[in-house]
Amino acid sequence: MKSVVSIVRADAAGIAAAVRQAVSLAGGLDEVVKSDSRVLIKPNLCRPAPSGMGTTTDCRVTEAVTRIVLEMGAKSVVIGEGSGAGYDFDGSHSTEEAFQVSGTADVARRLGVKLCNLNRDACDEVTINDAYVMGRVKIARTALESDVIISLPVLKTHLRTLVTLGLKNMKGVMPGAEKRQTHRLGLDKAVADLNSVMKPNYVVLDALAGMQASWEYPEDRFELGLIMAGADPVAVDTVGTCLMGFDPAQVMHLQYFARRQGVVADISRVEVVGEPVEKYRQSLKSGFQAFQSRYPGVIVIEGEAACSGCTGELIGALSAIREFAREHTLQDVTIILGNPTKPEATDKTVVLGKCARRLARLGVYVRGCPPHDEDMIGALCEVCGLDADFIIASRNSSRAKKWEETNAALSR
Ligand code: SF4
Repeated sequence: MKSVVSIVRADAAGIAAAVRQAVSLAGGLDEVVKSDSRVLIKPNLCRPAPSGMGTTTDCRVTEAVTRIVLEMGAKSVVIGEGSGAGYDFDGSHSTEEAFQVSGTADVARRLGVKLCNLNRDACDEVTINDAYVMGRVKIARTALESDVIISLPVLKTHLRTLVTLGLKNMKGVMPGAEKRQTHRLGLDKAVADLNSVMKPNYVVLDALAGMQASWEYPEDRFELGLIMAGADPVAVDTVGTCLMGFDPAQVMHLQYFARRQGVVADISRVEVVGEPVEKYRQSLKSGFQAFQSRYPGVIVIEGEAACSGCTGELIGALSAIREFAREHTLQDVTIILGNPTKPEATDKTVVLGKCARRLARLGVYVRGCPPHDEDMIGALCEVCGLDADFIIASRNSSRAKKWEETNAALSR
C-alpha cells in the first residue's frame, strides 16, 4: 500500500489554513493523537535564525500544528528542540536563543505550552538493537516519555547528508555530546539508528522557504510557499528530496532507515495528494557542490550512483587535510566516486567506494561503502606526498579534546 503525502500551497488563506489542509489531506491526526497522548512537537531550530529565513522551522507552522494538537485534547503538549552540536555549552549560543529569535518562544507563551531545551533536559541511555553504528545513545527524557512525536523539519540541503528533513530533524532529541558522536560514527547510519528508536509519528514539512548549498549567502535561500504532511517519515522525506531535485537513492540515511523498516524510499510507493511534485520541483545546489568550490585544486568526478555516504566522508577527509597538513598541497588531485562512465584520471587520482570498484586501476583505490574517512585521508596523502599518520593523529587528538570538553560540560 502506498503512503500518502500531501502538498499544499500556502496562498492568500494563510499558513495556518495551509497546515490544516495539508494535515487533513494526509489523513489527519485522529489516528495519531489521542486524549491520553503526551505530544512532543519538534521543530528544526538548529541555530538562532528568524522565521522565514529558510534555516529554521517557521514559527507560524509550529503554531498551527500546536493549535491542532491542543484542539484534539492531547494530555500534554511540549515544543522541544536541542540546537546543533556545539550549542548550550559555556560561552556558546543556546537553544533558548533559537526559541526567542525564531518566534517559537512567543508561540509557546501565547498557547500556554511548555518549551523544552532538549540539550539541557535530563537524558537516559537507550540500546539500539541491530544498529548500523550506534548501539547505544542518550536521548532527552522529554522525548523518551512522549507517546507522539511530530517532526516539523524545514526543507534544506545538508553538507554531509545531502538533505535534512523529517528523519534528520530527530537529531535534536540527542544532547550535544551525542550529536557530536554521530559525526564520528558516520552521520547517515547514525541518523538511521536514532530513528529506529525515535521515529516520528507524523511529519509536517515547512517548505515555505528553504536553504540550499552551504547556507552562507542570501541567494542560498529559495522560496516554495508549500506545506507538506504525512504519517510516514520515509515517504515525506522521499517527496521532499524529489522536490529539491535530488534522487532519494542518493540520501543514505533515508535508504538505510527505509531498509530497516522493510520499505523502499522511492516516489513510486508514495501517493502524492494536493499539488503535484513536478510543478514545484527545483534543481538545487547541494552542500557538497558548494563545499567543492572551496577546493579549487581538487576535481571530483561523480557518477550517478554517488551518494551522501561517500561525499559525507570525503568532506571529513578533505577538511582534516586542510586543517592539519603541514603544507597545503591538495593540488591537481582527481577523486572519482559513484559510477562515472569514462572519467579522466591523472597521476594523482583517488578512487572511492564500492560503486567505483571497476575503476580502481585508475588510481589509489579506497574500498568500502562508504569508505572510512581515515582510509580516504591515507589515499589522498599517498598521492599528494603528505603525512597521513600526522594528520589523522592531529585530527583525532583535536576530536578527543572537544569530546572531553563536551562531556565535562554535560556533567556539570
Ligand atoms: S560506495 Fe559510496 S557512493 Fe556508492 S553507495 Fe556506497 S557510499 Fe554511496
